[in-house]
Amino acid sequence: MATIRTPEVETFGPLVPRGPMAPPRPGPGTAAKRLGVLPVPPLEWNKDVERETAHLYERVQAVVPPVEWPFFAPYVKAINEAKKTRNAVILAHNYQTPEIYNCVADFVGDSLQLAREATKTKAGIIVQAGVHFMAETSKLLNPDKVVLIPDLRAGCSLASSITGEDVRLLRERFPGVPIVTYVNTSADVKAESDICCTSSNAVQVVESFGVDKVIVLPDEYLARWVATQTNVKIIAWKGHCEVHERFTAEELRKYRESDPNVQILAHPECPPDVIAEADFTGSTSAMIRFVKERRPKKVVMVTECSMADNVQVETPGVEFVRPCNLCPHMKRITLPKILDSLVYLREEVEIDPAIAERARRAVERMIHLKS
Ligand code: SF4
Repeated sequence: MATIRTPEVETFGPLVPRGPMAPPRPGPGTAAKRLGVLPVPPLEWNKDVERETAHLYERVQAVVPPVEWPFFAPYVKAINEAKKTRNAVILAHNYQTPEIYNCVADFVGDSLQLAREATKTKAGIIVQAGVHFMAETSKLLNPDKVVLIPDLRAGCSLASSITGEDVRLLRERFPGVPIVTYVNTSADVKAESDICCTSSNAVQVVESFGVDKVIVLPDEYLARWVATQTNVKIIAWKGHCEVHERFTAEELRKYRESDPNVQILAHPECPPDVIAEADFTGSTSAMIRFVKERRPKKVVMVTECSMADNVQVETPGVEFVRPCNLCPHMKRITLPKILDSLVYLREEVEIDPAIAERARRAVERMIHLKS
């Protein structure tokens, strides 16, 4: 179990938790008008589809039962063909289901890795297999490209917890104190911030200012974890990830009681008492690195459920204990919706140019920070 400091953290936030944000309005559909729609591909399961997708099924057979593959395979084949026709890439977050992550994605990773990939791609179209704020980040970094999110309702409880107006009020309350905003926020919130961060670089970003007090928004638990890793005083916001806040210290103690050698890896969006029970705390990419490099016999990944499936594909021999908390927003992205996105070029992500320019600055400052 990790020993962590418990520093003072000042928190602000709405007295009553905010509900989910209304889904953004669909984009203008200009890409579809300009580039046209594709013919709908055939989606039946037959010997040809089986043969052409066999190498992909081999990759996921440990986590996708054979009975499910005849449903997935025709979509996998159609999506991979449509990507070529459209000159498109799919950026998939670590929380996507194994058939998306392993069989159709061009790049996979955490928010920071996907943001970096978004700056490098030569493709004209980006399909974001993730949630809306990730697609917005890709659009910020690629204003001239078509960025698509297969379901506009793929939101995030952290992004819903704060508005640009909240950030302006905090700036008035703490003049001169730098504002670091987690990428899990809307472009409107990013636009009011000095710089963005992800869970993999939050400590580095906070310390980059060289000051003794920094505002870290909107995830209270990430901010509290950062405060344990630095001497900088942290001012936080009471936003929470609805997936990570469900884990409890008690359930982790039970895993350890049943096997004292189990390695418990927790995401910093978890509550502090959960993190205190973990052997290691880090972003999803840091958790993946931990498992790949150290090859523990048995591991509990205290994060979104699909992560364990995706890491298992690459680390045979490691036993994964699976507390299964699913992110309902990530799970809105499915193979049929990705195919729809490529065929009809929807839903196009658009950002008000006045907001986009300031939000882009905050994201680019993070990306260009020396690691
Ligand atoms: S897992 Fe949590 S932080 Fe990630 S998208 Fe879902 S609600 Fe947001």
